[in-house]
Parts: sequence; C-alpha cells; structure tokens
Amino acid sequence: MNLQSFHGGVEVPGHKEISTSRPVEPAPLPKRLILPLSQHLGAPAEPLVAVGDRVLKGQMIASPAGFVSAPLHAGSSGTVVAIGEHPVPHPSGLAAPCITIETDGEERWVKRERHDFRRLEPARIREMVRQAGIVGLGGAGFPAFIKLNPGRSVGTLIINAAECEPYITSDDMLMRERPEQILRGLQIIRRAVQARRCIVAIEENKPEAERSLRQGLQRLEEGDEVEIVTIPARYPAGGEKQLIQMVTGQEVPSGGLPVQIGVVCHNVSTAAAVYRAVELGEPLLSRYVTVTGGAVAEPRNLEALIGTPVAELLALCGTALDAVQEVIMGGPMMGISLASLQVPLVKTGNCLLAVARGEIEHAAVMPCIRCGSCADVCPISLLPQQMYWHARARDFDRIQEYDLFDCIECGCCAYVCPSNIPLVHYYRFAKSEIRALQEQKRKADIARERHELRERRLAREKAERAARHARRKPGPSDESKRAAIQAALERARAGKQGSPDDV
Ligand code: SF4
Ligand code: SF4
Repeated sequence: MNLQSFHGGVEVPGHKEISTSRPVEPAPLPKRLILPLSQHLGAPAEPLVAVGDRVLKGQMIASPAGFVSAPLHAGSSGTVVAIGEHPVPHPSGLAAPCITIETDGEERWVKRERHDFRRLEPARIREMVRQAGIVGLGGAGFPAFIKLNPGRSVGTLIINAAECEPYITSDDMLMRERPEQILRGLQIIRRAVQARRCIVAIEENKPEAERSLRQGLQRLEEGDEVEIVTIPARYPAGGEKQLIQMVTGQEVPSGGLPVQIGVVCHNVSTAAAVYRAVELGEPLLSRYVTVTGGAVAEPRNLEALIGTPVAELLALCGTALDAVQEVIMGGPMMGISLASLQVPLVKTGNCLLAVARGEIEHAAVMPCIRCGSCADVCPISLLPQQMYWHARARDFDRIQEYDLFDCIECGCCAYVCPSNIPLVHYYRFAKSEIRALQEQKRKADIARERHELRERRLAREKAERAARHARRKPGPSDESKRAAIQAALERARAGKQGSPDDV
C-alpha cells in the first residue's frame, strides 16, 4: 500500500518493552467496584439500582441518558452499598457520582445470549453494542454504537492498532493473545457499517502483534478481505485523523467526522469488546490495562474489572508508592495525572503509569521565545503559540479563530517547547472555560425565551379580556330598567311615595 504522511509529529522513546515480557494476568476480584456514571463522552448514565439492591454480574445498573450516552453494568455479583460522589480520573481532580458494589465472590451472571453475527441485521448489532455499554477504548470514550450507524455509505473501515503513545502496551498484548476476538469484532463492525474495504493499521514496532494478527487472519473464512498495513512509528500516528490520512490519503475536514469522507475507524480493543458483546452476550466489564513506569517492580498488563481501585492494581505489580512522583492514567503525552489513588479503573483506562521521581523531567517553565517549534510539530497544522497567548489572556473569541477545538491534545507542541510551557494545559483550560460559557449562555437563552413567552401570553390574555368587555354592550332591556330605577330614586328624593314595584 502506498502510505501517505501527516504533518508534524514527533519521535518519542517507546518504553514499551518494559511491560510486554510477561503474559497478561487476570487481576483478582476486588472487594469493592466503584463505577462512575460518566465514563464516556456525552450525558452521564442514570442509576437503575438503589443502595441495598443485590446485583448480578453483567446486570445493567445505569441506563443511558439520551442518545450520546452509555449504560453501565455490574462487573461482578454483590450488593450496591453506595451511590454518590467518589474521586474519579479527571483532569479537574474532582469527585463525581459513582455506584459502589460490594462483591460477594460468587460471580453469578445474568442470563447471556449468544449470537451468530451473520444472522443479525446491522440495526440489531448496533443495538446490542449500545446495550453492552461499549465506548471507544482507545481513549476517546465515544459511545461505539454511534460510529456503527454512519448514515451513509462507508468505503473503508480502519481498525486502529497503532497504539503510538509511549509506555502503553494493552492493545499490543491483546493482539498477541486474542487476535481472533479482534478479527471477529472487525467482521461484526464491518457488517454493521457495510464497509467495502477493511484495513488493520499497526505500527512497525509491534512485530509479534502483527504476526499474531496475520496468523489469526488465516483462520478466518473471510480473512483474505482484510488488509494489514504496517505504518511508521511516529507519534501521534494513532490519532484518528492522522491514521486516516496515512492510510487513505484523505483529510478529515476541520470540525468534521471521518464518515464525511466515507471512513469509519475503531480501536482494536473496541473491536474485541464488540465481539464479546454480540457473540458471547457479555457487556463491557473488563479491559486490558498496562501497569508500568519506573516505580513499578513488575510492570505488565492485567485484565482487570472496570471499577477496580487503581491502588489495588498498582499494588499487584509491586509499585513502590514512596518512590512515586505521580501516577498517570494513560500515557505521558495525553494521560491524566491522578489526584488520588482511590480512583477506579474506567473504560478508557488503558494504562497506569507510576512515574518514579526523576523519571520524567519537569524543568522550570520559562517565557515563550517565539521559536515556532510547536507549530512545526503540530499534526493538525495549528498555531500552538498563538493559542497559548490567547488562552493566557482569556481571549476566548480569538482562540477559537485559531481552531482550538481541532486540537487533539496530543502534546507534541509541549514536548518540543524549549521553554517547557505546559501548552496542552492551557488548551484544556480554554476549552473547558468556553464550554462552561456556552452552557451558561444556553441556560440564559432558555430563561430569556421562557420570560418572553410568558410576557407574550400575558399580553394576549389582556387583549382577549379587553375584547370580551368591548363585546358586552348594554341591551334595550337594561336601558329601560336603569331608567325606571333612576325615576324611582328621583321620586324618593322628592318625597313622593312610589309603589314597591317602581324599584
Ligand atoms: S515552542 Fe514554546 S517557546 Fe517556541 S514558540 Fe512555541 S510556545 Fe513559544
Ligand atoms: S496539542 Fe494541539 S496544538 Fe499541540 S501539537 Fe497537538 S494538536 Fe497541535
């Protein structure tokens, strides 16, 4: 295949060999599972259970609230012991609503239904993926069923096996150990979107994973219809837009979606989750997570239940907490620094990076010297320096003129900045401020609209009342009665005695 290139990007040390020398091990069942209601893009799920309820493994415990939302399932059987705020992995470090389940160790499942995907219509597949709570497991967290419903013809389905961020190897190990699940998931997704062509794109630094996928392909009936493409290891080759550009030569328009150019892209872990949901009837309950970093004595990948406390996963791999500088969920380029180790593993949590003191240098921040290096490496061809100035000045109108919302927060600009400016923090700050202002404006618009509607209603009712009064003119009988009363009153005033009938 004739691969294209994308603008910018950086070469970063992979550090991937640290966590790939041992097979993946299942993490033991934790005593408590903490399940945040929001582990996806969109509206948080709404609880279906109450404190004290007994739940089964795989039971839906929170339902999606709207179209862009995802349900939540119990990772094991047990009892709901709390529904309320708990620390979660989020850049703000704030707590958020979670359902906590005390597990009973019995692992009693809800009823599961197995299906042969070839007998299923695309709409049925989408609904099964939705009900299984599957979101983009590469880190985006977008509800997967939405991307299975392209609404237009799809020329190419790309399975993203790049995993370009340093340290993270969960997709790599999944490809080595469960290639069939990925390839079955790929076939299911292909059926759902009716894609004509299917490509698995993998970075050149994963030869074992590639070999495993190729062997798996030989065992599939439709194997020859899937192309496996090896791409250069250049960060962020696994970014959706960059990958599409490399593989198809097409650019996703600014602010647009891949489907606009006839492409749908899903991550390998998402594909495996789709297989488990459709063919085995299992919702998304667990995932592969890399536990690595200088403070981890036995770095490796674990298969852990979503909701397992991060502290337990770190302990399983012999993490020396007194040597830890910070723990990042995700990789060093795009991950979130955790404010607490009590946060749970979430659906998008592909890596726990326990950084030892001095392992990642945090040099002093200095003033911008306008060198332009940040613009040279930006894969979206943005102007990071200008965005930085406008974010600092809180000039949120100007920063949007520089396409802030096209920024994928890859961190390439900050990585090369000689002044060590944490540029991505400024972009995240600006984005969250703009979203908050937009939300405030939306609420103010609704309030103003309601006020205007009320004013219009009151004015209409007043006009209707006036019209009713105007229609009520006195009739001839009223006139004569009034005249008789008047005459009787005058006679009374003059001292004449009238008949009672007068009045
Ligand atoms: S790389 Fe850093 S110092 Fe250079 S222009 Fe960009 S923000 Fe300024
Ligand atoms: S973080 Fe944003 S501005 Fe910086 S290089 Fe990546 S896409 Fe460009």
